[in-house]
Amino acid sequence: MLFEPTRAEGLARMATFVPRAGKSYQERRNFDLGEAPISAVSQLSPWLRHHLISEQEVLTSALEQHNFQTAIPYVQQVFWRGYFNGWLEQHPTVWMSYKAQLAKAQQNQNHDYAEAIAGQTGILCFDHWCNTLKDEGYLHNHARLWFASIWIFTLRLPWELGAAFFLEHLHDGDPASNTLSWRWVAGLHTKGKNYVATADNIEKFTDGKFRPTGQLAQAPAPLVEAEEHLIVALAQPQNKPNKSHLLVITEEDCLAGVKTHPLCSGILGLVSPDATHFAQRAVQNTVADLGGHTYVGHHWSTEIARAAKNVQTTNVVTSYIPVGHVSDGMVVAKNNLKGHGIQLTMSTRQYDLQVWPNAAKGFFRLKKKIPNILEALNIG
Ligand SMILES: Cc1cc2nc3c(=O)[nH]c(=O)nc-3n(C[C@H](O)[C@H](O)[C@H](O)COP(=O)(O)OP(=O)(O)OC[C@H]3O[C@@H](n4cnc5c(N)ncnc54)[C@H](O)[C@@H]3O)c2cc1C
Repeated sequence: MLFEPTRAEGLARMATFVPRAGKSYQERRNFDLGEAPISAVSQLSPWLRHHLISEQEVLTSALEQHNFQTAIPYVQQVFWRGYFNGWLEQHPTVWMSYKAQLAKAQQNQNHDYAEAIAGQTGILCFDHWCNTLKDEGYLHNHARLWFASIWIFTLRLPWELGAAFFLEHLHDGDPASNTLSWRWVAGLHTKGKNYVATADNIEKFTDGKFRPTGQLAQAPAPLVEAEEHLIVALAQPQNKPNKSHLLVITEEDCLAGVKTHPLCSGILGLVSPDATHFAQRAVQNTVADLGGHTYVGHHWSTEIARAAKNVQTTNVVTSYIPVGHVSDGMVVAKNNLKGHGIQLTMSTRQYDLQVWPNAAKGFFRLKKKIPNILEALNIG
């Protein structure tokens, strides 16, 4: 399946999928039927991840065509994205610890790891998903769960290496959804409760395509960690300056320039060469449509300073960048920019302002608030 990183393609896919966001999604969403011509799930995650389309657009469209009760399973899945973003935002040490442990694990890569990422473990389904991930940049949610579970409990590889392998290949690779889903499978997010893939479950939800009987770990114990991850307060929302400014668009929010502010005097796209091909092209396509140019590289502060000077401003605006790789790069850039007398303002998206405060603990608390949040956002 082809994933084209443009807003037009995201909107077209949304329009095609939404008629199936009700009963059919409810009944079939856990089935991974591989090459089936019509998927039960939306496969919209790459566009949502980089905000080529927004959660509000998808939710509005689903609730225009289905009543709330029928659409609720789909609506809830969309809210999982915001939940993970908001949770990681309030537990940033989880991301720091993931990066530190990943660096250690990368120094001790072994033969089993090499076989796993080559798709040569001899576990047919795992090897198939591994190759699909590398070839297509997408896996069904159930396949992601089975893959992560086999990686951690059967192959006994460090979860951080698996999470990094996903981020490298998934078009929707997202620091929050990915890191926290791997931790959830491992039994670290909901402490003591791990996700164990079984041959029967795989057989049922692949319609008999795979049955890895006798190949998977039986009743493995959840992983444990000594580190406590304390809650930190969400950043205070910032207002956009009422002055001429440079707008910076990153892979976190390609919609930032959709309603360009009258005082926006220039647009710069910024993306790391380490970002996926989908993410790089998403930013490039978006910014080209808006008449700006995109810098692909690591020297963000130099590029921002240059672009700001070109349009004679010291004010730079970007969408709030949540915890993850992009934020790591922007923190460094922000400090350097102070030396150039440049003020960087990050404006939080309305959707995140509503969702994140309800995402500090378990998903259940956010789930109860969904009707209120939809009302506050004027959806449905
Ligand atoms: C180990 C593991 C790693 C994952 N890594 C990522 C990742 O890097 N990026 C990512 O976007 N999702 C990730 N997910 C969540 C989920 O698998 C994908 O969002 C989903 O499969 C995308 O397919 P879809 O668009 O067809 O989803 P649909 O079922 O159509 O759901 C609609 C939308 O809701 C959101 N969503 C659905 N399920 C989840 C979920 N469980 N968690 C968070 N958001 C969800 C997605 O934005 C999705 O597009 C991961 C799950 C697991 C188990």
